[in-house]
Amino acid sequence: MFVLDTLIHRLKRGCETMSYPQGPAPALPDRHGGALRVDAAKCADGCSACVPVCPTQAITRAPGQPVALDLGRCVFCAACVEACPPGAIVQTGDYRMAVRRREDLMLGPSGQEELRLAEALDGKLRRLFGRSLRLRQVSAGGCSACEADTNVLGTIGWDLGRFGIQFVASPRHADGLLITGPVTQNMELALSKAWAAVPEPKIVIAVGACAIAGGPFVGHAAVRNGAAAVVPVDLYIPGCPPHPLTILDGLLRLLGKLEEKRERVPGGAG
Ligand code: SF4
Ligand code: SF4
Repeated sequence: MFVLDTLIHRLKRGCETMSYPQGPAPALPDRHGGALRVDAAKCADGCSACVPVCPTQAITRAPGQPVALDLGRCVFCAACVEACPPGAIVQTGDYRMAVRRREDLMLGPSGQEELRLAEALDGKLRRLFGRSLRLRQVSAGGCSACEADTNVLGTIGWDLGRFGIQFVASPRHADGLLITGPVTQNMELALSKAWAAVPEPKIVIAVGACAIAGGPFVGHAAVRNGAAAVVPVDLYIPGCPPHPLTILDGLLRLLGKLEEKRERVPGGAG
């Protein structure tokens, strides 16, 4: 009887997995500000109001230049948006932020004006991992929120497994590492050993401001300011924590599974 009840319940509920990426992306909460953008034309001469309010030193300003913004360091607190008198720094609402190179997260005078979103792996790796990617998650000293939002991808609503992506217990069974946290001194050796245990070819994904650049712990003597100080990183996914959609978008871009036919976010990157 119990089995019959379960089957009837399942039939009534139907498929609960979202249609994304074939269908529209799921609605984001109002509080989700998304990627930041700097409008250099509005950045007032002599004003540096945003620089001291940033908790992670993500904003710098050289004399005579508009501000430069490092989205890899950003924890998306929006303090700079509120502090900017002419409204030159804005939240775009765009969840898409994953990039392949660290420098692609630098916006402003010395970097590009728009985010250069992640390109897919090259042909051989894409063929290898495109249908089956096994990742070992390494928590390298963060607050656990990045792990929590990564875990969300395993729920029935997101169903990460439908893309052939799964998390495994042993790095020896993995194709790569997904790293969260700033890499504390205590986790450095464990991370190095986990990376060494993954068979070649392998990839590394840094999720969250901590794993990219140290996040709120940047500059602390007990952290290595991100995964790239210890292992080579193939994909950077900003956020504190990144929304599950930002993480999924990055993974699918890396595997070449996203078509750019979907709706574009007004004012967004890309
Ligand atoms: S939103 Fe990012 S760049 Fe702006 S103050 Fe917060 S951490 Fe700094
Ligand atoms: S990036 Fe933010 S949410 Fe993720 S581990 Fe660091 S502090 Fe926590």
